[in-house]
Amino acid sequence: MAGRIGVVGSNMIDLVTYIDRMPGPGETVEAPSFEIGFGGKGANQAIAAARLGSDVTMVTRVGDDMFGPQVLENLRSNGVDTAHSRAVPGQPSGVAPIFVEPSGENAILIVKGANATLSPADVDEAAEALASCDLILMQLEVPLETVYHTVALAAARGIRTVLNPAPADPTLDVSRLRGLGYFTPNESELAVLTGLPTGTEAEIEAAARSLMAKGIDAIVVTLGGRGARLVTADGVHAIAPVTVEAVDTTGAGDAFIGSFAHFHAGGMDAPAALAQAARYAALSITRRGTQKSYATPAEFAAFCA
Ligand code: ATP
Repeated sequence: MAGRIGVVGSNMIDLVTYIDRMPGPGETVEAPSFEIGFGGKGANQAIAAARLGSDVTMVTRVGDDMFGPQVLENLRSNGVDTAHSRAVPGQPSGVAPIFVEPSGENAILIVKGANATLSPADVDEAAEALASCDLILMQLEVPLETVYHTVALAAARGIRTVLNPAPADPTLDVSRLRGLGYFTPNESELAVLTGLPTGTEAEIEAAARSLMAKGIDAIVVTLGGRGARLVTADGVHAIAPVTVEAVDTTGAGDAFIGSFAHFHAGGMDAPAALAQAARYAALSITRRGTQKSYATPAEFAAFCA
């Protein structure tokens, strides 16, 4: 069964330059190749859920530049409803210039552009569509006020919420997330947000519980190749990693969150939905790219068989 998911979040154009080395100040260096791709945590997670069959509506803002229409078209062609997504006059689209060295080491800049204008009023404008969702998904590439407002709106209407607090923002006021369903940091985001160590299992649980004390129902801590931990009032549930030959881990976190939203909104309980998400994210890292590494239901079924 497929659920209905609302994503209040970001989109970005990834501008990926493969370099031999970073230029120094004032220096011009030729680079071997360049690729342009669709990204942004909100769009990636929306597309993962839609590709699996969820009915996804996205509330996002693009620039009134050459990228804006392409971003919206990419969402539509992946089955995401863009009725509440549009271009903002005078704003550039969000872009992420990414530099990848031959070793795979990368350096990333994020220019939020129109994403930084997504406001609480924009969320209110989409309130009716969001109210019909089984689950609302958010990340931190849009203004924090918009995230707080969305959490409050969803809590007031009894809609489940998932906030992926990435990229880590130490100014996030967790006390303004009261009523949030799932908070999904990776271990370094958990450390930044709590100011607590997260080096051991006991430290991870203590840091997660310090967030729950502020009114969040459940914390999902993702641990890369070590799987994930679901921390609730009932205890800690370990989500086992799925061992695969990693080809490209970019976008694995978004595959995990988007597919968790899909499976949970579709009716699976959280531990089962997280176990499926761990499989879906593992499959994505066996393939190159971000959105194009997200499997269809048939490909996922074949992987799980
Ligand atoms: P990203 O680097 O994409 O932002 P993230 O830091 O948000 O990711 P991770 O904890 O790296 O998130 O990964 C999310 C989930 O994906 C993990 O909990 C795990 O289930 C799966 N995963 C990530 N890396 C691997 C891996 N090397 N092998 C198997 N599973 C993985």
